[in-house]
Amino acid sequence: MIKTAKFGGSSVAGAAQFRKVRAIVESDSTRSVVVVSAAGKRDSADHKLTDLLYLCHAHLTYGVSCEEIMSTIRQRFVEIRDELGLTYRIEEELDALNRSLNKDMSVDLLVSRGEYFTARLMAEYLGYRFVDAADCIFFGFDGHLDKEKTYAAIRSAHEQYGNILIPGFYGRLPTGKVKVMTRGGGDITGAIAAAAVEADVYENWTDVSGILMADPKIVDSPGSIEKLTFAELRELAFMGASVLHEDAIYPVKEMGIPLNIRNTNRPQDPGTLIVDSADEDGIQERFLTGIAGRRNFSILTVSKHNMDLSRTLIETLEILDRYHASVEHINLGLDTFGLVVSTAALGDAIYEVISDIRRAAHPDDVRVEDGIALVAAVGRKMSFRPGSSGKLFKALGEEGISIRTIAQGADELSIIIGVDNKNFDAAIRVLYHGFAG
Ligand code: ASP
Repeated sequence: MIKTAKFGGSSVAGAAQFRKVRAIVESDSTRSVVVVSAAGKRDSADHKLTDLLYLCHAHLTYGVSCEEIMSTIRQRFVEIRDELGLTYRIEEELDALNRSLNKDMSVDLLVSRGEYFTARLMAEYLGYRFVDAADCIFFGFDGHLDKEKTYAAIRSAHEQYGNILIPGFYGRLPTGKVKVMTRGGGDITGAIAAAAVEADVYENWTDVSGILMADPKIVDSPGSIEKLTFAELRELAFMGASVLHEDAIYPVKEMGIPLNIRNTNRPQDPGTLIVDSADEDGIQERFLTGIAGRRNFSILTVSKHNMDLSRTLIETLEILDRYHASVEHINLGLDTFGLVVSTAALGDAIYEVISDIRRAAHPDDVRVEDGIALVAAVGRKMSFRPGSSGKLFKALGEEGISIRTIAQGADELSIIIGVDNKNFDAAIRVLYHGFAG
């Protein structure tokens, strides 16, 4: 059994958090591959080291001294080291870094030092072998991961040293230069490391006990999802739920490795387990797995008596494509269709879009209605069960929420309901309390 455990910024924000990480790692000897982010915020007034390092680079670019910021960063690291009684001579490396600071300093190299130093400290504290991401995460000339080389390097380090610790968020280009990933990239490194060693589970330790069933800003203390499939996760993420980045899911999903989101501050909570297929789990008998949604869509309705539906639809889609407005949903009628598009994506181009449609398709009418919110009710338990949509619509109807548009994915994993923006919160609450909570 091999577990890959990735700890996010808030899990390694200070000495107290380091202690929690050690307790977690020590409680299970199969957690042999550990990945860490740079130290994050200790409280809401604090700063993430990565943010400070970006700020530092901005100062350098404008020729402003970043001495103060560098000394704040140094203090954070030295404090962790001293409080935990570690021996790592971090000052020497920080001095060398300070000497190399100038306006030509690579921003990627500079910001990657947040994870590098955090990982050096954590490696010593856990007694794990530090394996620099520059020596095991490789990108090609196109900037994409060189999967073969990377997986081989991580696998061989794991075989050689047993327990390894890798800093997240960065890797090396063929030119030898350090390149960072997108923000939050430590999650990607964790997934890559899990896939490389063919881990039995990829644990992603953060500061929440899993993915919540609904947005806590809308629903009062929503429960967390115990188990869901990768497909459900994608639906929720697409509709605005804040979950891991797609790139952080793909490597483990591809290998069929379950992903477990856990809370470093509450290790007793099981968190959320994301699996390939959860047919016979029997754990979660809820009708809905989760609810997510987004506001501010427009419905573009095109009507024409006796219309050649496919042709007119294709013409309209081509026009929208020219204006880079991607279509979220399509509703088809006999002589009419409605396209749901993000209002911001259409922007001022809407007038040109309408006149292009008029010119190309000669419709009887083209209308645009703004202020639509989409709410996705996601749940594998709804699939191919008669009556699923009826139940949801009835509950919304009873609350006086009128439904402006409806769409269901072909796999019946989600039902997407369009309501007026003003009914967005109420719709989510109705669905949550009726079917998820
Ligand atoms: N430290 C980086 C960030 O703040 C990457 C990460 O936390 O995963 O974006």
